[in-house]
Amino acid sequence: MNYRNRLWVGMMMLAASQLTQAEEFEQHGAHVHGAATMNLALEEGKLVVELESPAMNLVGFEHAPATDEERQQVEKAAALLKKGEELFGLTPAAGCKLLSAEVDGDVFEHDEDGGKHEEADHDEHGHSDDAHQEHSDDKNDHDHHEDGHSDIDASYIFECGDADKLTSVDVLLFKHFPALNDLDVQVIGPKGQTAMELNPEKHQINL
Ligand SMILES: [Zn+2]
Repeated sequence: MNYRNRLWVGMMMLAASQLTQAEEFEQHGAHVHGAATMNLALEEGKLVVELESPAMNLVGFEHAPATDEERQQVEKAAALLKKGEELFGLTPAAGCKLLSAEVDGDVFEHDEDGGKHEEADHDEHGHSDDAHQEHSDDKNDHDHHEDGHSDIDASYIFECGDADKLTSVDVLLFKHFPALNDLDVQVIGPKGQTAMELNPEKHQINL
């Protein structure tokens, strides 16, 4: 292979690897403290909301709770996350009611071996806030990052008596979880699919 061909092959491989990374980023999102992703779909009278966030934004840490204080923080966050009606302000005329709320994440799992789960060298203060790529092959433990980071998944289903009247969703997560300051939202609704970025100043989704 001459130099020119080799260069070409190299460039193609580089392009391919960048594409894979970009796709993975799109599919899984990146673990960045302060940021989270949310999908919202309105279909057949039901509003389905799926939130994925680093545990840091919602609980304040990402390891299994080791002290009573940390256990209380986790319980408080879990209880609040289940109150879908307080986290999402839906147009009252649409008559939406919360059907189900599910909250899942490593920080909620009970530590049965006496708190030894946590790596001794976990460095809560020193780690960088750079994006950490999720691994695509860790389906069994998808909320846990090898470097000690972990995510929380929360999903909500609202049933609306008159879904046509549901024109806006006010995302009140920012108020309840001040560490969250950037939310990437994908909306699938009557007008098709849209993407938007919300923050503590701009927190309303118009459907
Ligand atoms: Zn983290």
